[in-house]
Amino acid sequence: MNKNVEKLLKLQEIDDTIRKKDLRIGKLEQRKDKLEEEIDLLKEKEKEREERLKKLKEKSEEKNREVDELQNQIEKYQERLDEGIISFKETEALEEKIEHSTNRMEKLEDEAIDIMMEIDRTKEERKKQKSETSEAIKKKKEKIADLEDEKEKMANDLQELKKDKEDVLEGIPERLISQYDRLRSANNDPVVQIKNGVCQGCQMSVSKNTIKRARDSQEIATCENCSRILFIG
Ligand SMILES: [Zn+2]
Repeated sequence: MNKNVEKLLKLQEIDDTIRKKDLRIGKLEQRKDKLEEEIDLLKEKEKEREERLKKLKEKSEEKNREVDELQNQIEKYQERLDEGIISFKETEALEEKIEHSTNRMEKLEDEAIDIMMEIDRTKEERKKQKSETSEAIKKKKEKIADLEDEKEKMANDLQELKKDKEDVLEGIPERLISQYDRLRSANNDPVVQIKNGVCQGCQMSVSKNTIKRARDSQEIATCENCSRILFIG
């Protein structure tokens, strides 16, 4: 085999490894982005749940305030009644107001109790949710750290490979590198074997003369059909 074709084969091998590692890095980045999105969603959900609990607490305070106000009102009515210096008609009206306010107050107290119970339930749930969420986030962060480690390893490998490529390139004539680069812009395998007289790139038969050239260590044989650089061996 022609020494330069041998070097081109080595170059092709390095280029392939570089391509695969680049793809892998792209996939690792995608997975990392997805995990980060998932973490953001989990945090967002926690915020919403926290906000709901806050609103419930506000609602509870509001109910209690209303109950207190009614309580004060009823006490004032009662004081006036106790003073006893009002007409029968006024007494009747006040008693009616007290009854009405008392009913209203009882209804509000029931509602306040319901809300308090909901708050207690929600707080219990929140404990569980919080620990589940932080556990889930922790796991996702660990995965991200693993992905980062792998990515870093890939990046180091790539640097090594690029150095190797530089070394290989130095030994190949410029003209052949251009030919290789041109072919590689269309296919990942610009250098292929001839097997049973067939180019392994395009699967077409090559001429006897081409086979002869491929065997000749002084020649560079190319496929008549796809122009790939050929070797036998
Ligand atoms: Zn071919």
